[in-house]
Amino acid sequence: MKSIAKLFRIDAENHELMGAQLAAFSRQVPLLYFILSVNSIALAFTHLGIAPPSLTVAFPGFLVGASAIRCIIWLRRRDGVVEPKAAARTLRATVLLGGALGFAFLAWALSLFPYGDTSRHGHILFFVGITVVSCIFCLMHVRPAALVLTGTVIAPFVVFLLASGDVVHIAIGLNLFLVTVAMIYILIICSGQFAAMVNGQVETKRLSNENFRLANVDSLTELPNRRQFFHRLSDLAEQASTANHRFVVGVLDLDGFKAVNDLYGHGVGDRVLKETGQRLLELSDDTQFIARLGGDEFGIIVDADLEPEAVLAVGSKVCSVFDAPFSVAGIVAKIGGSVGFALAPDAGTTAELLYERADYALYHAKARYRGQPVIFSREHEVEIRKLSTIEHTLRRIDLEAELSLHYQPIVNVGTARLVGFEALARWHNPELGDVAPDVFISVAERTELIGTITQVLLRKALAAASSWPEDIFLSFNLSMRDLISPVTILQTVALIESSGVDPRRIIIEVTETALMQDYEQVQASLRILRSMGLKVALDDFGSGQSSLSYVHQLSLDKIKIDRGFIRNIATQENARNIVKTVIDLCRNLKFDCVVEGVETAEQVEIIDRLGCSTMQGYFFAKPMPQSEVETFIANYRVSDHPRMAAAG
Ligand code: C2E
Ligand code: MG
Ligand code: MG
Repeated sequence: MKSIAKLFRIDAENHELMGAQLAAFSRQVPLLYFILSVNSIALAFTHLGIAPPSLTVAFPGFLVGASAIRCIIWLRRRDGVVEPKAAARTLRATVLLGGALGFAFLAWALSLFPYGDTSRHGHILFFVGITVVSCIFCLMHVRPAALVLTGTVIAPFVVFLLASGDVVHIAIGLNLFLVTVAMIYILIICSGQFAAMVNGQVETKRLSNENFRLANVDSLTELPNRRQFFHRLSDLAEQASTANHRFVVGVLDLDGFKAVNDLYGHGVGDRVLKETGQRLLELSDDTQFIARLGGDEFGIIVDADLEPEAVLAVGSKVCSVFDAPFSVAGIVAKIGGSVGFALAPDAGTTAELLYERADYALYHAKARYRGQPVIFSREHEVEIRKLSTIEHTLRRIDLEAELSLHYQPIVNVGTARLVGFEALARWHNPELGDVAPDVFISVAERTELIGTITQVLLRKALAAASSWPEDIFLSFNLSMRDLISPVTILQTVALIESSGVDPRRIIIEVTETALMQDYEQVQASLRILRSMGLKVALDDFGSGQSSLSYVHQLSLDKIKIDRGFIRNIATQENARNIVKTVIDLCRNLKFDCVVEGVETAEQVEIIDRLGCSTMQGYFFAKPMPQSEVETFIANYRVSDHPRMAAAG
């Protein structure tokens, strides 16, 4: 019973189905009323003069007129967007009206019956049969309407025929009944298929919308993702190149995020990223588009023509989202952020170039103006060109021939002994002249060249060290990229093993930034090296951001205090206090301590007094080629005690 009732119901919950029914039906409405009108006019015509004019002119005229008005209403409504509530109302009205109109036509046709002869009776039977069949056909997509029409027309009509007593009429009645049953069956199947098709389309659309969302949204922060960012950037860059449209691209990178991730786990890291996204969204206005580009990098597009001062103001605002610490799961983490901007179209008119330049400005911010915004400038462009020349030259030269090493002594002023040498890379190129190691090493680090360069330098350094006395160590700098490359680490191990130099004589110097990069991988590399007997020194300590607790967790043997603190040690009490704190810390954590950049006797004396006796700097000697190392070693042994020298 319930399922029969369901056949007659408009499913008002299924908005898509109602929309599709309305759309399909409104396409067939004119046809339906056309059939109805033509059939009625034909029937009225064959009864003209036989039946009274009220039945041959007035009544059919009224019905045809009503049909025409309905038809016009439907045609008008055809292209409009229909509210679900209105759609349900319209469909229900169609069901009722269909029934009423059908009944009215039937009543009219049967009222002509008493007036005609046998052939006119045939016409009436034909009229009712053919009209109702074609109307049901037109109403196929609105099942309740088709069923109601069947009920209000076919049922009384069949009863009428069966009751007529005429054999032919009874036969026609039975025939019509059977055909109707078959048609209802087909109708139910078709409308079911129609509903399934519409529901299928709805599901497909939902899935494709979901796919689109997933492809364009970052699942962690719910911000637009890299793909959407570049899509938008490309659109705007296109406008910049064709219509000189002005806008701003920014790249934000978090400072100290790596440490949070490594120390507290990825769960906390994720929450910090999520909250960063939220804070960024809160401060943005509708000219600003914020996306997460991946890792701890966010992208910003400001679609407005801003002066550089205004861009910097936006940047400061962006950096200020890190003013408040992040408290996540009972942990309070303090991180920072630096941001680089590129202004279109001046800095470029393609998405790639604009992003690259904003990223370059970010790199500058990170290196020199941490926590502040930097805008890509002409000077940056000159610098990029210079660096790209260096890169191209490095790629084509014979590294073995042009790269060399200088060695700077490290001494213990307490025992008056020369303890080791730090190997420092040198590059002389006929066209470029001398290129500073921090410059070409950082260029090499951004390409795959660093691996080869490290191997060339290490081989030379090991060859030199093998000729030194056994008690003198070799300090060698490894770059961040070396430490995260398992291949380089394995090559390093192999080189050291085949060199014949006792691994316990070798110290690897790594910088804090290296350790911040990929904690797991770096730790694994350091473990391998230390298991061979090598020692690890943290270089330039104090120049970066690492917290003392972080340093404590690393597998370290030595800390080299950055020369930045030594410069003012004689004049500034503050600098002296910092150095003292670090020296005390090393003693507590059982790290050896080396002070670098020692230039004057006064500095030697102060540092010695603060408790560190291992030093390196111009005061003792500048880095020298291997050819001078031997004489230096020989002379040093007989030279004055540096502590005496300092005192004298
Ligand atoms: P670093 O490892 O901290 O090396 C110490 C730097 O301080 C050297 O600069 C050295 O010449 C300089 N220095 C030493 N004593 C004094 C002093 O008393 N006063 C002053 N003002 N400076 C002093 P250099 O040779 O220009 O090297 C710069 C940086 O380049 C190094 O810093 C290191 O980070 C990197 N580097 C050098 N050689 C290599 C290498 O073979 N591999 C890698 N990965 N990096 C290297
Ligand atoms: Mg070093
Ligand atoms: Mg250093």
